[in-house]
Amino acid sequence: MDEQIILATNEKYWLKTKFKVWIKTPADSDSISGTRYRELAKEAIEEWKSVLDDFANSNQIHSRLGNIEFEIVDECDIADIRIAWNYSHQYNGFTRFEPPSGSIVFSRITIAKHHGPIIQNTGDPIPSNTTLEVRTQKEIKSVVKHEFGHALGLGHCSFSGDMMYNLDQKPNTERKISKLDLEVLSQKFSIIENPCQQISVSHIIPKDDWESLPNQ
Ligand SMILES: [Zn+2]
Repeated sequence: MDEQIILATNEKYWLKTKFKVWIKTPADSDSISGTRYRELAKEAIEEWKSVLDDFANSNQIHSRLGNIEFEIVDECDIADIRIAWNYSHQYNGFTRFEPPSGSIVFSRITIAKHHGPIIQNTGDPIPSNTTLEVRTQKEIKSVVKHEFGHALGLGHCSFSGDMMYNLDQKPNTERKISKLDLEVLSQKFSIIENPCQQISVSHIIPKDDWESLPNQ
């Protein structure tokens, strides 16, 4: 039987397409300035905007993804999507939602600027010989892109080449925002027009089809 790709959609969705995004300026790291971290996050968001537009333009069916806009704002409290930074052994990045399910009011992304071995929070002290390394600029951008996908409403994908593959597994693998990610998002954003629409819990396609999708 063909291996299948599953993209979980979560029970979360937005009822708007114009997003205010706030990005905290973090402290400098060894080789990356706080301002540069902020720029990397902006570049990741610009990449999302560009693939969303390409998808909307190439689709014959009208997709709301072309209406999505991101505006970077200076005030955290008015932002729909908020990006902050941290140090951690327990994650590469994570996204939380307010409220936790249903129609999203705002989402909060936290990115770990440094990385070491991922140690799940068991309450045990972190071994003293564990060191944290500054994440490269490429890694930072990749983690922001993944978390931004969550912030828009996507869950995890079971294919390791997909942007939405779980970051705890192979965090440094090259990934792409796939047509599957965009199709599921398009379905989610159509809820604005059709509030009674049910979102399927997962979106499944055969692996062969995934591999034939164009690079985004
Ligand atoms: Zn994730």
